[in-house]
Amino acid sequence: MERMYKVLKTEGRAKRAVMETVHGTIQTPVFMNVGTVAAIKGAVSTVDLHDLKTQVELSNTYHLHVRTGDKVIKQLGGLHKFMNWDKPILTDSGGFQVFSLAGLRKIKEEGVYFHSHIDGAKIFMGPEESMQIQSNLASTIAMAFDECPSAVAERRYVEDSVARTTRWLERCKKEMNRLNGLEDTINKQQLLFGINQGAIFDDIRIEHAKRISEMDLDGYAVGGLAVGETHEQMYHVLEEVVPYLPQDKPTYLMGVGTPANILEGVERGIDFFDCVYPSRNGRHGHLYTNHGKINLFNEKYKLDTRPIEEGCQCPTCKHYSRAYIRHLLKAKEMLGMRLCVQHNLYFYNEMMEEIREALDEGRFKAYKKQKLENMATPLE
Ligand SMILES: [Zn+2]
Repeated sequence: MERMYKVLKTEGRAKRAVMETVHGTIQTPVFMNVGTVAAIKGAVSTVDLHDLKTQVELSNTYHLHVRTGDKVIKQLGGLHKFMNWDKPILTDSGGFQVFSLAGLRKIKEEGVYFHSHIDGAKIFMGPEESMQIQSNLASTIAMAFDECPSAVAERRYVEDSVARTTRWLERCKKEMNRLNGLEDTINKQQLLFGINQGAIFDDIRIEHAKRISEMDLDGYAVGGLAVGETHEQMYHVLEEVVPYLPQDKPTYLMGVGTPANILEGVERGIDFFDCVYPSRNGRHGHLYTNHGKINLFNEKYKLDTRPIEEGCQCPTCKHYSRAYIRHLLKAKEMLGMRLCVQHNLYFYNEMMEEIREALDEGRFKAYKKQKLENMATPLE
């Protein structure tokens, strides 16, 4: 394939780019919508995602491996067929879940031994296994298998961990090349993103960024943030590290964050984002609007016939009132959650569209300032 990622415009460090994949074009900056077990939590289907302006769906390697199994999904034609989604899918490597969810884990040079959080079964996952699982799932973009050390981990631990993550990345690349060359591989053009780690130690992160940049991967992620450090520490890491990642490759900030975090990330050169906030908050009746977050459980919405946000073109706001959705949430009707999640995902996806337009027109800085001011000023 020709140059698959092309920067169209920059404003300071902010990038407006386009990426061609076998599953279609991705316009960046982009917010990927998280469907952990091949479903967006809150009963939102892939058919709905088309109406919500979703460009990329994100699924989880570890979760799909332990249930229903990547081999089963491969037999069914891969994740795209399985969940009826023809646009790009990114799969994470499973590393983060192995380290955060699984019990009794043991980290060795070859990989990680752990127990499934579903049935306690003993599992081994290393770089090769993670690549094999993601190849079976046949996602558009696979993530490298890494260890995500805690933001508060000691320097010595982080140094050893990052060195191992680099060795694991070399193995991931080799295995991905092998898998993409096999006859029965579903997506032979699966892309591989490497992940920068190093907790909040600038020098470790920068060294690591330089090292992995030499490996000519399809994209680069900054991982291990939003796991206990402050927002300021996170922004600082981005300022220090992003300049050492290739500018002509996509940059992905994993698992972040609030609308404000995303605006700050874009300004620092990030163009891929993902986060569970819009769906998780939606399920709890917390809705994003251009004038801050609102809680629909609040008594004051009982007789409120307005949509969640006036002027919002999402499937929820076009048809339903705050009062009705509040009633559904209070009655614990699944429809309440679904309507809220749809609005929140649309809000995020539309904000990304606004960001892209602002970058196209060279007014991102002004847009960002206005958006942040609006969101900090509640209407009611
Ligand atoms: Zn809406």
